[in-house]
Amino acid sequence: MTTSDVTGMTVPELQAALQDGATAAGIAEAYLDRIAATDGTLGSYLHVDREAALERAAAVDASGNAGTGLAGIPVALKDVVVTAGVPTTSGSRILEGWKPPYDATVAARLKAADTVLLGKTNMDEFAMGSSTENSAYGVTRNPWDPERIPGGSSGGSSAAVAGGLAPWAIGTDTGGSIRQPAALTGLVGHKPTYGSVSRYGLIAFSSSLDQAGPMARTVLDAALLHEAIGGHDPLDSTSIDAPLPVLAECARRGADGDLSGLTIGVVRELGGEGHTDGYEQGVLDRFTEAVALLESLGAQVREVSCPAFDLALPAYYLIAPSEASSNLSRFDGVRYGLRVGDDGARDLDEVMALTREQGFGAEVKRRIILGTYALSSGYYEAYYGQAQKVRTLISRDFNAAFDAEGTGVDVLVSPTTPTVAFPLGSRVDDPVAMYAADLCTLPASLAGVPAISVPCGLSDGLPVGFQIMAPALADDRCYRVAAALEAAQDAARGSRFLDQLPSRVAEGAA
Ligand code: GLN
Repeated sequence: MTTSDVTGMTVPELQAALQDGATAAGIAEAYLDRIAATDGTLGSYLHVDREAALERAAAVDASGNAGTGLAGIPVALKDVVVTAGVPTTSGSRILEGWKPPYDATVAARLKAADTVLLGKTNMDEFAMGSSTENSAYGVTRNPWDPERIPGGSSGGSSAAVAGGLAPWAIGTDTGGSIRQPAALTGLVGHKPTYGSVSRYGLIAFSSSLDQAGPMARTVLDAALLHEAIGGHDPLDSTSIDAPLPVLAECARRGADGDLSGLTIGVVRELGGEGHTDGYEQGVLDRFTEAVALLESLGAQVREVSCPAFDLALPAYYLIAPSEASSNLSRFDGVRYGLRVGDDGARDLDEVMALTREQGFGAEVKRRIILGTYALSSGYYEAYYGQAQKVRTLISRDFNAAFDAEGTGVDVLVSPTTPTVAFPLGSRVDDPVAMYAADLCTLPASLAGVPAISVPCGLSDGLPVGFQIMAPALADDRCYRVAAALEAAQDAARGSRFLDQLPSRVAEGAA
């Protein structure tokens, strides 16, 4: 087995290799070598501990468990996931050098499953952004074209998985940060139903929206990772105390491709007639072709109108910064990471102000100011209160689409993003253009419903994502439809989606 064989495998292929005599240490080494050779260009990791990963892999080999479940499979975690004894920065200077004393539940569950942590991935600071250019530690590049962004805020995770630097990774999605980077790098990314994956130990951005989920090369891989991290957690007060639906089995069955009996609603407000402003034609074409493919597999398709979706962007950009301004108040230079100006001559307020001034980047400051303003008395009803009302209207649109007596749809679909990956630097000084990258992903976030992005072809040689949204707790439907689409497209192409990655990039550069 060569390194490139190993780093191109799906998780079931890695499991089979382990059962066939490959070692967890050998697999970890193949990934670590590839990281060493190519991550100087990609910039997908913030922290890799080669020795620790190899030691852990050797321990799994020694236990004799490698190849059972996820034992011995490497994994990467977005740096917003707290890891005991392993540096965790959330992409911010203010947390530089912080080694958390505990594991997030997501990290603990993956550890308990005997996966091998390769490292922590780059991200927009505190998960605020759509391009990973807001990281305090440098940009991450898209393996499809290193002059373009890998999406954000989970762009380190998306670039690592697409580039073969991890078989899969954990991302977090507050307004689209799993689905949008997955779409722009040709991956499968799923935002679970709000409350179905624990938030314990995720550094909070907007608590009523944040959700961790899988980013993977195939729908089945995503389902396997989701099953490993999901389910009730008493340490998270918003965790849903209900069993996770069966996901991997659903992905396997979905790949059989029979969608008869399923009704798909195409959301008019997300790229439909009269709503194409800002959408690239290539994205709309790939989306339309994918809908036709699903129809050919037996699904009923009709257009559905969700009028309040038009207001998702302004509502999100009031709610998320409001919650962020409150969550980020804990970074005061006293408890964690950076402390500036503590020279004995300055009082506590000055030290806090200096620390926050130097520790936070421009986008984070913009959100804190915006959120504090929106929450201030006198403006609360005009901004935050109104945004919460819009949030309710968006939930009602979803309910109406899914529940309508006899005429309800099973899933709603749209493009995942209005455009393909944009060039580095092209939007970073224009926050509103950057925010527009989330146009299609925000409604599901605000309503707390599950949504998946699955590749649906290329436009100008760059990946296009197809989004499938389902009612709360029906994450299995997302996987079923995504698996059917993936299988039909793979069959038509005769290869997996990522096999199209240009080899000059796949080879990477040291
Ligand atoms: N891009 C959106 C934002 O900047 C979403 C981020 C996310 O989902 N973490 O808020």
